[in-house]
Amino acid sequence: MKQSVNQILDFFKKNKNGKTWLALSLMGVVVVLAFLFRPTTQEKPIALSAVAAEISAGNVVKIEDTRDSGKLTITYSNGRKEITLRDTATSFLEQMRYLGVSDSALSKVEYEIVEPGSFTAENVISTFISVAMLGLIGFTLLRFTKGGMLPTQKKYSEGEIPNVTFKDVAGIDESRQELTDIVTFLKDNALYQRMGARMPHGVLLVGDPGTGKTLLARAVAGEAGVPFFATSGSEFVEVFVGVGASRVRSLFKKARAKAPCIVFIDEIDAAGRKRHSTGGGGEMEQDQTLNQLLVEMDGFAATEGVIVLAATNRVDVLDPALTRPGRFDRHINVPRPDVKGRLAILEVHVKDRRLASDVNLMDVAKSTPGLVGADLAGIVNEAAILAVRSGHDTITVQDFQEAVEKILTGSVQQKSRVMDEVERRTIAYHEAGHAVVMQATPHADPVYKITIIPRGQMGGFTMTLPEQDSMLMSRNQILARIIGLMGGRVAEELFCDDITSGAANDLQVATQLAEEMVMRLGMSESGLRVFNRPEGYEALTAPRAGQKTFETLDKAIGQILDECYCEAKRIVTEKREVVERVTQSLLQQETLTREEFFALV
Ligand code: ADP
Ligand code: MG
Ligand code: ZN
Repeated sequence: MKQSVNQILDFFKKNKNGKTWLALSLMGVVVVLAFLFRPTTQEKPIALSAVAAEISAGNVVKIEDTRDSGKLTITYSNGRKEITLRDTATSFLEQMRYLGVSDSALSKVEYEIVEPGSFTAENVISTFISVAMLGLIGFTLLRFTKGGMLPTQKKYSEGEIPNVTFKDVAGIDESRQELTDIVTFLKDNALYQRMGARMPHGVLLVGDPGTGKTLLARAVAGEAGVPFFATSGSEFVEVFVGVGASRVRSLFKKARAKAPCIVFIDEIDAAGRKRHSTGGGGEMEQDQTLNQLLVEMDGFAATEGVIVLAATNRVDVLDPALTRPGRFDRHINVPRPDVKGRLAILEVHVKDRRLASDVNLMDVAKSTPGLVGADLAGIVNEAAILAVRSGHDTITVQDFQEAVEKILTGSVQQKSRVMDEVERRTIAYHEAGHAVVMQATPHADPVYKITIIPRGQMGGFTMTLPEQDSMLMSRNQILARIIGLMGGRVAEELFCDDITSGAANDLQVATQLAEEMVMRLGMSESGLRVFNRPEGYEALTAPRAGQKTFETLDKAIGQILDECYCEAKRIVTEKREVVERVTQSLLQQETLTREEFFALV
């Protein structure tokens, strides 16, 4: 603190334009004095157990909960108000139950979550003072960095038109692209209505935390110029029983009155996890909320102009009822950005900041594989802070390097994936192996895209797309697929010191395909007899299959896998240089398109 005061004083001395600063300093002194002599409006909080007793006695009509600070304002039936503090680690509801308040007593109380710092009569003055001081500090810092310090984290109020648009979203062009028709629909709702075109009710944005899902949802509304109604699944499970459902109901009611508009449900997995038949109150509450959500989504016509966007980082835990047609039937992946994407995101965030001339953002992008938009925004912000702290008037290369380090070490704890170099190399060889083998195998689907950017549990992936949709799969096509799957493991063997668990999924799929060939498609020497599901070894132990059958089938499956493995090995050995070339490109670029890949092979 002392140091920064000195810095500010130094700055004042250096600054030529003395008048403004004199005026500001005077203002600062006034504000500080006003703060010191402000009327004492702070009441002493009463004990939480006392509140519990009052609720049980039926004397409390309303509770306002400032969730983050844990401050509660209690209004009694005689109009008196008091404040109390609760533990923010668990919900208020739980704490009251713990203190022995019955659910029926609780249900008579009106419970409301308020944003911190809302203007209640008693804190208007102190709020005014804080705002004035913050304004002064903010202004000083703004002048100081010639750019702006923290990105203002504005909490959206319900039904506002967001001030962000697609130009604020960078590096995830494909996800953005997939949302453009929704923007068009919202902009020209009437046209769609005339044509009777159907829009999806619900669109699910799926991606790791910090990839920009919330930003994207707001940008859709901002781009279309329509109101944005937001809520979060985690809010539902925390509040009083029955409130989750009524929250959903009232949100949709407000939204429909303002259509066309966007309803955004963040962290939908918190409300829409798979339902269990047994369970306590918490789960029941979740069910009610989920049911209400389903009712709302089914209840309006697609032409009404309400589009529900939801975000989650896990689709697999969602209740299947949510993803059924007519509900969240469209999924949009929001991936981690590649090097070019990271560069674009950094560019968006340095827009209003002054950089030293030797700063190369591409270097920053290259040094941050695996990081997401939120991390990159954090890096730019951190670099700006470091610049101020060390008295630079522009952000230097050094500031950026330090910021990257800081965010990298910090984000290890946040479980953001930063790959180490060895792991990255292994993944690149693995994917290059797949791609080159697929490319060299007749009957294989053409390679569409290769990437070493992690997604969920996968280190990277090689995507193929069939040339045309076909109804039948030939024996050669299945074999080609198995050979392609083997390419990853083979490349690891031939190029890396050790083999990894990265091939686990490949081998599982390959085994399944081989089993299908042998046991259900009659495509092996073991004969034409097919076996019913359950498949695999379960079928082998079924009464109809004796030991001898087991051996024949097992051998046939093993043989297919072996032969495919040998073929993959032959290809990779023969095309060593090509694999090497593709790997180096992947390490550099992280994603290769079909054309880029073809140019290399
Ligand atoms: P998510 O909802 O996926 O967890 P957010 O949308 O909340 O991520 O991202 C947090 C912040 O990170 C955003 O407000 C923005 O400043 C920054 N950010 C994330 N992704 C991007 C992106 N693709 N382009 C620009 N900024 C981004
Ligand atoms: Mg979010
Ligand atoms: Zn693989």
